[in-house]
Amino acid sequence: MKLENALKLLREVPDFPRPGVVFRDLTPVLADPDALRAVVDALQDDIHPDTQVVAAIESRGFLLGAPLGYGWRYGVVPLRKPGKLPSVADREPYELEYGTAELELPSEAIRPGQHVVIVDDVLATGGTAEAACTLVERAGAIVTGVSVVLEITALGGRERLAGRNVSALLAV
Ligand code: IMP
Repeated sequence: MKLENALKLLREVPDFPRPGVVFRDLTPVLADPDALRAVVDALQDDIHPDTQVVAAIESRGFLLGAPLGYGWRYGVVPLRKPGKLPSVADREPYELEYGTAELELPSEAIRPGQHVVIVDDVLATGGTAEAACTLVERAGAIVTGVSVVLEITALGGRERLAGRNVSALLAV
């Protein structure tokens, strides 16, 4: 399937998770075998060739990171929400529209000097991806890029990640 047809399966859900917010839902893309393959292949096309590890952001990033790792022989490291990991190497808080959130890096997952790409479904304000970059870099690794399926440009994530290699399959 062509990427453009795969991306047509993206669903817009009005008023989720709050009134006035339009949630971009990847579920129908991932549920279609040809669309899933088109999206994962396209993500891979933009990943820097030095990359050794995919750091996948909970939770929809996991669904993209695992096939990338299997298909192109990257290690896959989950960056998780608090309280899920049995052994935490580091944690980084970040701002949400209301309140704060945190990402945790598992112990003994990323080694200094490794080349790591951050993968998630959607880039919005960039706060989550920025926290992910911070965790990877504080572990002594090198961020080769931030790869997402969808970028919501009005929320300024790309500007927040200025100087980084940000790649999105679709920008709205
Ligand atoms: P940010 O930190 O504001 O860039 O938000 C990105 C994070 O929130 C990612 O982990 C996304 O999965 C999630 N997110 C934000 N907006 C959406 C959306 O419209 N659809 C799906 N996920 C979203």
